[in-house]
Amino acid sequence: MPRLPQPFEEITRPGYAAVHLAGLRVEGGRHEAVLSGICPRCEHPFQYVHPLTGFRVPRPSRSRDTYSVQVACVCAEEHPGRPDDDEGCGAYWILLLRWDGR
Ligand SMILES: [Zn+2]
Ligand SMILES: [Zn+2]
Repeated sequence: MPRLPQPFEEITRPGYAAVHLAGLRVEGGRHEAVLSGICPRCEHPFQYVHPLTGFRVPRPSRSRDTYSVQVACVCAEEHPGRPDDDEGCGAYWILLLRWDGR
């Protein structure tokens, strides 16, 4: 049975980050990190490009660090009620990422 599309709603829940992180792939470039995962709300796959300006430049003495990144669902699927200039289903959450910055 097909599920009705979720209506667009700007919403966050405590469990979103953990669900997203579970299937997440992070690919780092020089200027951005590409987070590929499944939206925990609408369950559509999407890629979120995070510019690395918010990431601190890793120092040799400290090869790993944790960064918090605000991610918003930007899936390409339809969600009724979505503003023309918006993307995804409206869900957003904060990810804590371990970034080993190459
Ligand atoms: Zn969606
Ligand atoms: Zn979504």
